Amino acid sequence: MSAVPHKTASPRVGFVSLGCPKALVDSERILTQLKVEGYDIVPSYDDADVVVVNTCGFIDAAVDESLEAIGEAMAENGKVIVTGCLGKREEVIRQAHPGVLSISGPQDYTSVMRAVHAAVPQVHDPFVDLVPRRAADDIGIKLTPKHYAYLKISEGCNHRCSFCIIPSMRGDLVSRPVDEVLREAERLVRGGVRELLVISQDTSAYGVDLRYIERDWRGGSYQTRMQALCEGLAELGVWTRLHYVYPYPHVDRIIPLMAEGKLLPYLDIPFQHASPRILKLMKRPGAVERTLERIRGWRAICPELTIRSTFIVGFPGETDAEFEELLDFLDEARLDRVGAFAYSPVEGAAANALPDPVDEDVKQARLARFMERQARISAERLEAKVGSVQRCLVDAIDGELAIARSQADAPEIDGLVQIQDGAAHGLRAGDFADVRIMGSDEHDLYGEVAA
Ligand code: SF4
Repeated sequence: MSAVPHKTASPRVGFVSLGCPKALVDSERILTQLKVEGYDIVPSYDDADVVVVNTCGFIDAAVDESLEAIGEAMAENGKVIVTGCLGKREEVIRQAHPGVLSISGPQDYTSVMRAVHAAVPQVHDPFVDLVPRRAADDIGIKLTPKHYAYLKISEGCNHRCSFCIIPSMRGDLVSRPVDEVLREAERLVRGGVRELLVISQDTSAYGVDLRYIERDWRGGSYQTRMQALCEGLAELGVWTRLHYVYPYPHVDRIIPLMAEGKLLPYLDIPFQHASPRILKLMKRPGAVERTLERIRGWRAICPELTIRSTFIVGFPGETDAEFEELLDFLDEARLDRVGAFAYSPVEGAAANALPDPVDEDVKQARLARFMERQARISAERLEAKVGSVQRCLVDAIDGELAIARSQADAPEIDGLVQIQDGAAHGLRAGDFADVRIMGSDEHDLYGEVAA
């Protein structure tokens, strides 16, 4: 009788992932490595031998949420490894939760794996140990649905916006060479991804640290630079959406790619303010004059361009007149999607030292006026789409409805398109459909499959 190797139970890891899409990509990398090394990922504290918490530390509310998540994992399981942005502030974590096993900062996959190995050693498994150490499906673990994926093109940031502590947590800009990014995108598309969401801290600055080094991919030569990256991604024939683009002059060069249908006509540009003096106090990159003129120029080349942005109201020193300037900008720019925050100090940020903080009630009143003004504009821009046919990507089926997104909608942050007869047409998650738009509200569109 031949001996059958005995398969030992795999060690089990629980995982809590907090924070922005960049943190999500870090989580995906760690989870992929855990799977490759034979660890099981389990959904409950009870089943886990150890719990990894990937934290966010961007604003005070995120710090609180992260500390709470660590506390819950400590109470429910007791063996906790902390990583991510808040890991850069070890003393804050140690003070609240002295018993955590290990603390590391963002993108420090090696430290996390070392801590996991120490807490729950890998089990020798004769089945797994002979298998080459790569994830079976070649694209690793994804925390997003199968049909879209975040593509992180760089880490860190060379700017020093006065309200932001990301550079002190994630360091200066480190771009990934273009061929590496394009090969990852290629693998994702082979694995079923239909929409790539390009993320970084500053997508327009991509490659500057590598002096725009040229690399070969699919027999062609590409610079490590935003425009060349977009041209390469266009070869893959899926939706490509750009996030965190700063309005440097060279952004003008990618608008024609959008007009030609090679890139989604969508720009996520965090303008943050419209007053030149406040932008200067914020130390914003690409704080150019003539922003309105440039937006008009982009729309002349690509009329279907969607612009999403974020703003901060009540920044230290913001006067009534400067706030009015911001509202006037909204009226003129007629952006499609806008998020806004009342300024709140972040521990360690340079802006905390600025004079003339705005009273909390004034900040809140300005935020309410800002949101009201933009809500009307967003609703009008959506209403203008009623009667048109929009190409949509289906995210899910809910009874009779297909829940989809148009080219103008990024997942999680923008609106949805409800396709009333989606199920009847046999649509499934990941399918594209042309949808005749029949109605709209402030956020979403409603329609039916176009004949
Ligand atoms: S561009 Fe400014 S806000 Fe964005 S990560 Fe860099 S420093 Fe922070």
